[in-house]
Amino acid sequence: MPDASNATSDLVPMDVAGRLGRLRERFDVAGVDALIVTAISNVRYLTGFTGSAGLVVVTTDRAALVTDGRYAGQAPSQLAAAGSDIDVEVSSDAQDGLVSQIVGGSARVGLEADSIVWSAQQRYERLFDGRQLVATRGVVESLRIRKDAGEVDRMARAAAIADAALAEVRAMLLDRPSEAEFALALDTAIRRHGASGNSFETIVASGPNGALPHARPTERTIADGDLVVLDFGAVVDGYCSDMTRTVAIGDLSDTQARMAECVTAAQRAGVAAVRSGATSRDVDRACRDVIDDYGWSERFTHGTGHGVGLDIHEAPRVSSASDATLEAGFVVTVEPGVYIDPHGGVRVEDTVVVTDTGCTVLTKSPKSLSVVG
Ligand code: ZN
Ligand code: ZN
Repeated sequence: MPDASNATSDLVPMDVAGRLGRLRERFDVAGVDALIVTAISNVRYLTGFTGSAGLVVVTTDRAALVTDGRYAGQAPSQLAAAGSDIDVEVSSDAQDGLVSQIVGGSARVGLEADSIVWSAQQRYERLFDGRQLVATRGVVESLRIRKDAGEVDRMARAAAIADAALAEVRAMLLDRPSEAEFALALDTAIRRHGASGNSFETIVASGPNGALPHARPTERTIADGDLVVLDFGAVVDGYCSDMTRTVAIGDLSDTQARMAECVTAAQRAGVAAVRSGATSRDVDRACRDVIDDYGWSERFTHGTGHGVGLDIHEAPRVSSASDATLEAGFVVTVEPGVYIDPHGGVRVEDTVVVTDTGCTVLTKSPKSLSVVG
């Protein structure tokens, strides 16, 4: 039985307290004097609060987490543990009054356009009648994009758990389980190794199902001649890992072997292109150049990668459509794939931390397409 406590004990501290000041420095550019933070992972990022309901109101001189009575005990203790100076205000039926009071005389009130729903926007229009409501995008996310040492520690542990879980259950493929059975075994191992859960629904996509980049596990029995795409991640203290490995069952056809060779080389080229100062486009191009050489550019049907953190998909996107420049401390995935029905799919994905000279790969499971007899 693995020791689950090792996964989450002695975590490197995160600088939660410093985030509020850095957020206020963004107010000018965002054109606001106050920001109402409603995206729940942004709330967690600013406060350390892990509840599922709450918002943070930040003005130039006040900041408060507004939540309901269920969290009257949990919220203050979590904020104190995180070293946060943000106040906690609890109300179950008069939250708008509290929000209005905290916003005070601020003239320009920012909302998070990507998280607020229509009805809430309408409510805030009435609540702040006469003020300017500002639709903001990516303000807190622009802080989250650069991870501190504590955040990287959590993601490294999440990645290590995913590695250990795969190593533990891989031999089960010899018994030719169904996709669903194998996914359950992997998920169970992830929990047993100390993760709080999966960072997204595990993908086990075998044979023709592998030709769908985001297939869900089915009752299909994994069979000889299959490529099996395994895409999964663990969560440690809210932070996600993300890894894909492709396993071959029995002998591969010539086309499958070429797909494996192509994607492995493309992924290696993509990881080699990651460093501070490179653009998302450079990394995407590095992968695509290799796949183009194999004549399969039309078979690589998704972006090359994405940022990872509290959310499994966050800034920056790694694709030809992104104008992001990578900086040290960004954490991104590199995950090219080739999908050809009926041969199946091959995808290889690592989660990497950008450094000044390159990157540190967090996901360490062997990358060569492993053959299970
Ligand atoms: Zn993935
Ligand atoms: Zn991914």
